[in-house]
Amino acid sequence: MSRTEHSALQTALRTGLVARALPAKAARPLVLDSPHSGRLYPADFNHSVSRRSLHRMEDGFVDLVFDDTPQQGVAFIHARFARSYIDPNRAEHDLDPQMIDGPWPGAAPSNKSALGVGLIFRRNLDGAPIYTAPLPVDQVRHRIEAYYRPYHRLLAATLAATERRFGAVWHLNCHSMPACAAAPAHHGRQESHRADFCLGDLHGKSCDPRFTQTVARRLTSMGYRVSINEPYAGAELIRRYGDPATGRHSLQIEINRALYMDERLHRPHDGLRPLRRSMNRLVAALADDLGADDLGADDLSGYPVLAAE
Ligand SMILES: [Zn+2]
Repeated sequence: MSRTEHSALQTALRTGLVARALPAKAARPLVLDSPHSGRLYPADFNHSVSRRSLHRMEDGFVDLVFDDTPQQGVAFIHARFARSYIDPNRAEHDLDPQMIDGPWPGAAPSNKSALGVGLIFRRNLDGAPIYTAPLPVDQVRHRIEAYYRPYHRLLAATLAATERRFGAVWHLNCHSMPACAAAPAHHGRQESHRADFCLGDLHGKSCDPRFTQTVARRLTSMGYRVSINEPYAGAELIRRYGDPATGRHSLQIEINRALYMDERLHRPHDGLRPLRRSMNRLVAALADDLGADDLGADDLSGYPVLAAE
């Protein structure tokens, strides 16, 4: 990490744009992150749609679902900024040049950008444009340097430290999904209800398939319905950090929002508490499966401790 990168990360930690909780007891080779649960809307966002419509794009309260898991010996990282401001789960170059007021060399818009949900979202869930004019180049650069990159640096540094310590690392990339997939209106079909959890491993490319099966089995044994790679197989974060051939295993986990929140009112309901317990049990079971650190309890020397934490 260069000096400039390190100082951007320190600032992001100090000002609470990104957060990391380290294991409360013997470290395990498991790292969790939640990139989409941020509720912070920076002053320069300048969106022309309602804040309420942007809240609907958050993976609401996923940070609260997992915030106890460091008690199980795992590190947990989450973004505090809203994903509609800049999305850590997109490639850095996945930008629509038409959204930017000036040249942007290297833009490589994917189909996500074409759909209006690239690195910087162009529209809300109703399809309304989020901005009334193209964004100044400096502002896009600021979002990348002060928000997007510090999140990736914090996650990358934590995964690397865990891998150095244990020789391998397992990464759970945590999200939540709407309870129903709306069927195309012209078919006039009913909405289809989703499983309780969807696990995504890019069809076996981002982790050892046995890890996916283990997580699925643990969830099923708790009574949950689980789907794999359908409807979500995973995106940038597990693509970037998962490399099973070298011992880096990244798995995306999508929780059905009906389990813990009222999607319409955008607030947690009574299901949050039992879900938190279930996720603690899941993480504890996985931690047991993966083994503890022989170096001894309470030894956090393997993690790069950052001054602002
Ligand atoms: Zn998400």
